[in-house]
Amino acid sequence: MQIVRRPLAPGETNHELLWLGVSSGGLALAASWFALKLPWPICLFHALTGHSCLTCGATRSAVAFFHAHFFAAFQWNPLAFVFYCALSIFNLYALAVIITRTPRVRITQLTASERKFIRSSIIALFAFNWVYLLMTNPSL
Ligand SMILES: [Zn+2]
Repeated sequence: MQIVRRPLAPGETNHELLWLGVSSGGLALAASWFALKLPWPICLFHALTGHSCLTCGATRSAVAFFHAHFFAAFQWNPLAFVFYCALSIFNLYALAVIITRTPRVRITQLTASERKFIRSSIIALFAFNWVYLLMTNPSL
């Protein structure tokens, strides 16, 4: 694995602009949803089984996160909290490189074993998070 800084190549997808736009659009959509006082989304898995799904508590975690209640955000859904932290850091980075037109950070030359380790780690994180949600059932 190699982490490099390089200018955006001609024709290369501008991931910083794309994902900053997607997350900003999602935030605007969510803010509009709550401003219009539309009903909170319900979890069909929870409604059918009475148990938390992988993403139960993610909405409440986001609301707590944006109100700077970070411990509550973590308690609602730890993996969602980590995702919101990582997304915030990425968005700051993306905004900075877009405005300053500086080189982009890219991860290159991942070996097969590194890809397998990353995939396994992500699956383990989802599994641990789901066990936490099932044990604590914060959505009740
Ligand atoms: Zn759910």
